[in-house]
Amino acid sequence: KRLEAEYSAKTSKSAEFFRRASRVLPGGTTYQVRFFKPYPIYVTKAKGVLVWDLDGNSYVDFWMGHGAHIMGHSPDFIIKAVNEATLNGTHLGYPNTLEVEYAELLTKVVPNAEMVRFSNSGTEANMYAVRLARAYTGRRYIIKIEGGWHGGYDALHVGVNPPFEGPESLGLPEEHIKYTLVVPYNDLNALEKALKTHDVAAVIIEPVLGSGGCIEPQPNYLRGVRELTSEYGSLLILDEVITGFRLALGGGQEYFNVKADIVTLGKIVGGGYPGAGAIVSNAEVMELLNQVKRPDAKSRSFHGGTFTGNIVTLTAGYTLVNYLSSNRGVYEQLNSLWDWARRRMNEVCETHDRLCWVTGVGSMIGIHFTRSKPVNVREAYQLRINEQLYDLMHLYMRINNILYMTEHMSHLLPSILHTREHAQKLIDSLDNMLSMI
Ligand code: PLP
Repeated sequence: KRLEAEYSAKTSKSAEFFRRASRVLPGGTTYQVRFFKPYPIYVTKAKGVLVWDLDGNSYVDFWMGHGAHIMGHSPDFIIKAVNEATLNGTHLGYPNTLEVEYAELLTKVVPNAEMVRFSNSGTEANMYAVRLARAYTGRRYIIKIEGGWHGGYDALHVGVNPPFEGPESLGLPEEHIKYTLVVPYNDLNALEKALKTHDVAAVIIEPVLGSGGCIEPQPNYLRGVRELTSEYGSLLILDEVITGFRLALGGGQEYFNVKADIVTLGKIVGGGYPGAGAIVSNAEVMELLNQVKRPDAKSRSFHGGTFTGNIVTLTAGYTLVNYLSSNRGVYEQLNSLWDWARRRMNEVCETHDRLCWVTGVGSMIGIHFTRSKPVNVREAYQLRINEQLYDLMHLYMRINNILYMTEHMSHLLPSILHTREHAQKLIDSLDNMLSMI
């Protein structure tokens, strides 16, 4: 109650704006995950690691545009590049040289990538990747992971939240998820059983479970997934929408030394600008999209869209990935800082009766108030000590000028600009919050 009163006192303009927003935006937001209780803050400015709200408060942001801002908010060099490029057009609607250059760059930095198609979001990339895998294999079934989030595309919008069965949305017919099988993360037996009993086109998996709580793969799990998919003739789609350009320049493939058949990218691939997504794979798979070699529409797989390959997103993405590829050292720094912070946070949890566990890899941080360390999303829910601790932590952090998403599956995605001091502020805030309990 005291914390709520403090929050209300410092965010009265956001409270007022929430009332106004709720009349024109369902739930007062454009995306349900951006809501938190009792009302969200409305952000007016974002720069570096900070965001400012309507009341003028500044917060250290650990959400970073859903993980899109690996270089912090609004880096000057990217804004400059985009501003210059867009003097010649924002969206040309014709083939352009930049899409070729960026595709060439991606084939150099993303392992096992020979060809690329740009899409407008991670959701779209996954949707077309699934279609491509079905086209390539001539099979129908898709296996996804419990708690895995691949966007709101019908066939993948299942098994995300408890009870992990049935469609995740009103208006999503059962028939649309009929060919989707859901298996727990870090469970090779369940995966093999599903592969053995169905004609599976592809297994789609995030190398590190992202919005399912930043849960890391157990040793040899990803290698097992690779071996099983090869054995059963299914494609491995690695959803690197979060992990791409975050765990390493070559994403989870490079970090975990695992080879995907198709990689989907989003977020960072757009350099922090909207409309970010890409599907990359080997030539044999990607040529199924080739309208020159496959003039008959029914003999090829479709991918497209009005804003695909637009200059704004591509300039931002190209500028960023080009920078990262000439500064590979940033990954060692980023990963070691956040591996250290995770260790420290776990020590803090230990000193407070082991009320929490901090999971993840490098700059993917999951905080769980569970009795033991969760290895999959079902455990992350079932082992919870107390649901209210999540609300309490979120509110406490907001009052202490720290922001992240989402309240009930806390995951943080810091950037290269976050320093040891920012990490320490987070560790201390966790410590202080736990002291209150
Ligand atoms: N895949 C993963 C792993 C994600 O985390 C997300 C978004 O959070 C998506 C796909 C969907 O991407 P988008 O929101 O760009 O459609």
